[in-house]
Amino acid sequence: MFKAFLLKYAEIGVKGKNRYVFEDALVKQIELKLEKVEGEFEVSKVSGRIYACAKMPFDYDEVVEALTTVFGIVGICPLVQIEDNGFEDLAEKVIAYLDEVYPKKNFTFKVNARRARKNYPLSSPEINMELGERILNAFEGVKVDVHKPEVMVNVEIREQINIYTMEIKGAGGMPIGTAGKAMLLLSGGIDSPVAGYMIAKRGVVIEAVYFHAPPYTSERAKQKVIDLAKHVAKYSGTIKLNIVNFTEPQLYIYETCPHEELTIIMRRYMMRIAEHFAKQSGCLGLITGESIGQVASQTLQSLNTTNEVCELPVYRPVIAFDKQDIIDIACKIDTYETSILPYEDCCTIFVAKHPVTKPNLNVIRNSEQKLGEKMEELVNSAIETVEVVMCAPQ
Ligand code: ATP
Ligand code: MG
Repeated sequence: MFKAFLLKYAEIGVKGKNRYVFEDALVKQIELKLEKVEGEFEVSKVSGRIYACAKMPFDYDEVVEALTTVFGIVGICPLVQIEDNGFEDLAEKVIAYLDEVYPKKNFTFKVNARRARKNYPLSSPEINMELGERILNAFEGVKVDVHKPEVMVNVEIREQINIYTMEIKGAGGMPIGTAGKAMLLLSGGIDSPVAGYMIAKRGVVIEAVYFHAPPYTSERAKQKVIDLAKHVAKYSGTIKLNIVNFTEPQLYIYETCPHEELTIIMRRYMMRIAEHFAKQSGCLGLITGESIGQVASQTLQSLNTTNEVCELPVYRPVIAFDKQDIIDIACKIDTYETSILPYEDCCTIFVAKHPVTKPNLNVIRNSEQKLGEKMEELVNSAIETVEVVMCAPQ
């Protein structure tokens, strides 16, 4: 029965002169999403509202699911659209709608009419009154509740008339492509996919870098990261994943530096390399899944030490989240099950028994000095041999 959707946005509505930029970006993102589902849709922007109208039959559940992954949409309202054949016809159609959508006739309701076309013979309050009365007469068990109705009967009078009562929760956030691009350090863990999702939610295009250490880390560990990127891509759009072979630099650090400093030094090099790729592709920031105090490398002292090597801002959206809060989001975006697959990570293989938790910047810098020119060569070669995988939504 539904052949169209009203797609509501929130924050975009308070934008000023450039509001159209955000609306157009949202329309484009919706179009991209709907291209992937069966059917054909026309997405249009009509006086501050966005509609997606089906031009042929479609799978309702599939379309709703696709729309719930579009950042910028806060509500998805399935619409019944009718021609204006006078008020009597409208009343009949509204009653038929309610009859079908609500088999149990014991709800409270309120009619909320919006007359966008001013030449309609009844005013909005008149429509509310008249229609309310018709509905009360049609169904014995229903009642009006103007404060907290269970069913809000929305009637929008435009060229056509829209009838809707349901609003499915959207993904929120801002449309992808309205806030620049950033480079996500994506590991196989729980936190970084969530961090990428959260930044993408604000409209940022995501690119990613993964450090692997074959043969210490397996092909399956790498595949796991690709799979995670594909999951995040469901929301963010296709992610370009840079896979860096980090084995040589990592072994060299292991041989040359005190073991308790390994993780910190390794993380500093990861940041440097990530920043190299970030700058190369016009990213304006780095993203990590770090959270204060979660592990030794995430104390304020450690974060300060890793942060120091970057010029770009580092965005850490889960910095103050408890693990369980991060897990909740991971479950919601469907990355959790993949993240907990038990494949090794390069950070866990070369880990010291007692890593420093309060690294001293000068001490770390001194240790890095010992790495000398050879480290530069190893880093350059890791950069040159990068493997790029385009991760499209799964
Ligand atoms: P995650 O669950 O995201 O792996 P974590 O709790 O395991 O995080 P760490 O291993 O200390 O924490 O990593 C901190 C952050 O550094 C990660 O969130 C991620 O952004 C980045 N990172 C760690 N390992 C890698 C890797 N192998 N490749 C790319 N980024 C990584
Ligand atoms: Mg990790």
